[in-house]
Amino acid sequence: MNELEQISERVKACKACRLCCLGAKQAVPGEGNPMAQILFIGEGPGRDEDEQGRPFVGAAGKFLTQMLGLAGLKREDVYITNVVKHRPPQNRDPLPDEIEACWAFLEAQIKVIKPKIIVTLGRHAMGRFLPGLRISEVHGQAKRSKGIWCERQVFFPVYHPASALYNPSLRDILIRDMKKLPILLKKINNDPQ
Ligand code: URA
Repeated sequence: MNELEQISERVKACKACRLCCLGAKQAVPGEGNPMAQILFIGEGPGRDEDEQGRPFVGAAGKFLTQMLGLAGLKREDVYITNVVKHRPPQNRDPLPDEIEACWAFLEAQIKVIKPKIIVTLGRHAMGRFLPGLRISEVHGQAKRSKGIWCERQVFFPVYHPASALYNPSLRDILIRDMKKLPILLKKINNDPQ
């Protein structure tokens, strides 16, 4: 079993917060390429993810997969996970103590994957890494901040795909932001500083 699989096993056994026991059918640890250069972090599993045990497989996930395609990426190229690994009841927002209880798993995943770019999907994921910023002001901008596995980590905050699903102007913004990813990655790989 590789390190990410070991983390997934620990996630599946976790009862550190109430989310494991408020109706979630199973944990959704995350999936993708263990060597991914780009890590996507969403909010928490929804109904479809809870059913399947896989992140971003519902409507928002289909849109995310489409946008990856527009950025020249496939799901197998990247790693996808969430700030909380069990579905919050009625898809409510994850609470701060739930995000904290799940943090050790996300931190462990980041240390194993060592992503060049962390794309935060929506304000909950952004808030954990880039507190105090407003997504409407910083979406689509690369932000260097203290990293988990390296001194200076590149974060790339974007709107959550679910928020863009039924809002055409957000949808266009999100697509435009996601299309910047390959250029940003090339820049980081050519000039790591
Ligand atoms: N929304 C999220 O934030 N994460 C998922 O896995 C699915 C929908």
